[in-house]
Amino acid sequence: MKSTSLIRANVRSLHAYVPGEQPKIPGLIKLNTNENPFPPSPKVLATVRAAVDQRLRLYPDPSAQPLREALAALHGCASENIIVGNGSDELLALATRTFVEPLPAGGTRTSPSRRSQHVVQYFDPSYSLYPVLTAIHNAVSNPVALKRNFDIPSIAQLKKEGTWDFNAALTLITTPNAPSGRGYKTSQLEKLCAAQNGVVILDEAYVDFAEENALELALRFPHVLVSRTFSKSYSLCFQRIGYLVGHPEMIAALNKIRDSYNVNGLGQVAALATLSHLSYYRKNFETIKQTREWLADELDQLGFKSLPSRANFILTRPPRFSAEEWLQKLRDQKLLVRWFKNSTVSKHLRITIGTRGEIQSLIRAVHLILNS
Ligand SMILES: *Cc1c(COP(=O)(O)O)cnc(C)c1O
Repeated sequence: MKSTSLIRANVRSLHAYVPGEQPKIPGLIKLNTNENPFPPSPKVLATVRAAVDQRLRLYPDPSAQPLREALAALHGCASENIIVGNGSDELLALATRTFVEPLPAGGTRTSPSRRSQHVVQYFDPSYSLYPVLTAIHNAVSNPVALKRNFDIPSIAQLKKEGTWDFNAALTLITTPNAPSGRGYKTSQLEKLCAAQNGVVILDEAYVDFAEENALELALRFPHVLVSRTFSKSYSLCFQRIGYLVGHPEMIAALNKIRDSYNVNGLGQVAALATLSHLSYYRKNFETIKQTREWLADELDQLGFKSLPSRANFILTRPPRFSAEEWLQKLRDQKLLVRWFKNSTVSKHLRITIGTRGEIQSLIRAVHLILNS
């Protein structure tokens, strides 16, 4: 018996998610995975250090209750409106399993009228994890193109185009968009939510770098959830803490299938402490936003075409050489950025906003490459 025959067909044919590289090269400036260039607040670090004691023997709080209460106070809702996950990635996977019916094994055909219950829908380009989660669950992906400027098409345009599924079981919207950085107005998202019959998740991983957020929609519409993470804006990628906000019945359904101890104890401690020191982080958001505008201006003066961004990265189209060549030339100068091969943005580079010093090094390297 071939061992591959033991593996489910959809897993055998799965193209797994490709995370950005985490190379350990001394002196490398890492601008490829949208991590925050600033460390967590010294007070958060001290709180985490002080929590490393005999309690590591015990299971953590199974429902992250103190953290959920603090988040509820922050967002003006109840702790029943919130579920915490091992990063927001875990919650996106849980949502797929909670709201989307997988295709029957053996490939029995479903009638077109029943197709929507299997559909995970998202815009292209957006977070490249969504199609992978869909394939793992053996559900049906429905990627629909954003406009050329990465704006969301209007409801009328979506209806006219005909490929958007207003009954899709789950619709995932990255807002602000990644990898373009484009921000969306809450009024625009509201119209889309109101037109959807299935569950909508607004993935606000980068919202702290934007001008507005759509959290109110999760508290107003029973079928809308907002996803947030401590990874990008609160410098806690390492600790894996994300959460969803939504209607208590939706949150309760997700809780039913969650692993009992899905959120590690030190992560809960770190996230809770973070909420007591928000002013430290808000200063960092301002610095990152200023650095973002400065970088886009500098690059555009050198012939790049940068898209306006509401996130902690920019998507930019480089001159002279291909994006792939730029990736290598920058790497030779110990600068790592992100290039999405085989994507609709393969002519662009995505550059995470680092410290002013790191971005100064990047600009210097770009000058060198253009003058070589
Ligand atoms: C980084 C990212 C996430 C995942 O965040 P974690 O909380 O670290 O799992 C989710 N959505 C988008 C769009 C992201 O860029």
